[in-house]
Amino acid sequence: MSKILIVEDEESIADLEKDYLELSGFEVEVANDGQTGLDKALAENFDLFILDLMLPGVDGFEICKRIREEKNTPIIMVSAKKDDIDKIRGLGLGADDYMTKPFSPSELVARVKAHLARYERLIGSNIEENKVIEIRGLKIDTTARRVWINGEEKSFTTKEFDLLTFLAGHPNHVYTKDELFKEIWDMESIGDIATVTVHIKKIREKIEYDTSNPQYIETIWGVGYRFKM
Ligand code: CA
Repeated sequence: MSKILIVEDEESIADLEKDYLELSGFEVEVANDGQTGLDKALAENFDLFILDLMLPGVDGFEICKRIREEKNTPIIMVSAKKDDIDKIRGLGLGADDYMTKPFSPSELVARVKAHLARYERLIGSNIEENKVIEIRGLKIDTTARRVWINGEEKSFTTKEFDLLTFLAGHPNHVYTKDELFKEIWDMESIGDIATVTVHIKKIREKIEYDTSNPQYIETIWGVGYRFKM
């Protein structure tokens, strides 16, 4: 659930904003003065800030500036004066949006949702998730180079891992031993296609329940191997 901090000294306005946001499924905290708001904003993790401009103690300008020195969290600034909004825009403090009071609570909720969605896309695009292959109890994290079978981690040599990942990455495709050797060992002149057979045997010992009746890597007699999807 997204957590929002409202910094607003007019309690009736703060309550109204809080009610509407909570009804829309957000978790909301309110600070009624600037210093409390600033301390909370810097000390805790919020997903969005709604800052009133004119506040006792530290004002909204200052809070916005201080938050931006440390966080990229979306900030919506609100003010009773249109002139002030123009002023903060001009200052380029890094707020994401501005609203002039009075505004309709549903308009505020709509803008909050839009900014959260935009921010999540931004964050999401910066995080590279590990690429994971999961097939019937077999899980391969190709980024971390780790393998689990029914939740139990198994250790693999580099080539065993490369071979398994290659086959699992191309399910139902039949490869000859020659093709697999070229794919995994080609640049190294050590070994021959018998190496493939040896490695397949070792992989099966680690991932198959019954190696005489393999469920993952099938032998296609006279041709090669296939990873069963
Ligand atoms: Ca105020």
